[in-house]
Amino acid sequence: MRKGVDIGGTFIKVLWEDGRKEKVYVKDISRDRDSFLKTILRVVKDGDPESVGVAVAGFTSLDGTIYKSPNIPALDGINLRELITSEGIKCMVGNDVSFGAFGEWYYEHRQSESLLFVAIGTGLGAGLVIDGKPYMGACGSSLELGHHIIQADGELCSCGRLGCWEAYCSSYGFERIYKKISGENLRDYEIVQKAKSGDVIALKTVETFKKYLLVGLINAVHILNPDVLVLGGGLLDNMREFLEDTRKNLLLSVEKLPASCLSVVFSKCEEFCMARGALAMSFSL
Ligand SMILES: [Zn+2]
Repeated sequence: MRKGVDIGGTFIKVLWEDGRKEKVYVKDISRDRDSFLKTILRVVKDGDPESVGVAVAGFTSLDGTIYKSPNIPALDGINLRELITSEGIKCMVGNDVSFGAFGEWYYEHRQSESLLFVAIGTGLGAGLVIDGKPYMGACGSSLELGHHIIQADGELCSCGRLGCWEAYCSSYGFERIYKKISGENLRDYEIVQKAKSGDVIALKTVETFKKYLLVGLINAVHILNPDVLVLGGGLLDNMREFLEDTRKNLLLSVEKLPASCLSVVFSKCEEFCMARGALAMSFSL
């Protein structure tokens, strides 16, 4: 039996080949390296799987080293693949959204020759699957679209640069847009809730967010020319009812040629999306 494991700063999520799902709370130990690594190993080894795919939010090299994970600093510099294989388990470790993109292709869009997945939640991640293979780049760091700059000298991003797409299109970017308009601090889901009940400032926040969302998506389509663009992640899932015109506007805003073969769809896999991609990756081991 195989399984996919998605390591985040709050939960480790596990999806088994037979569909079983588990969620392990790790928030209190995600900054304590020893405890966190012990918990990861316990979760990975549990049930004695024959192989495991492990998705991690952050810059992860092809050999399984986590170079930088803004939400899970305890993992910085750790070679997770080496650690898990030393326990006698075959495994593959990679960026969560790159693996998530492969899951979208594997389970939903096998007809796609060039699938782009953009996931917006705590941060903004992306993944590309070309001819059924995840495109990882020369050292595992491809598709960092969250850190392509859409505004020179713009807002501060979690990576330390200014004006990245993620600085606007992420939970914290969205919350900052709301604060700039209203002067108030609210969580992303509270703002979306207010927008759903017709609050003018929350609706203005959603519209501003969508403006930046569209700019980044136009850039991505012009650079990558995908045939399927999947939009997902917690924040986009939550505000889906506001995004119908974004789909339409994207197709109208890009050049006719890339628009002619592009379909824009929403992800259906919700919170076990990255674990599902990691599971799909484990089938090749
Ligand atoms: Zn950035």
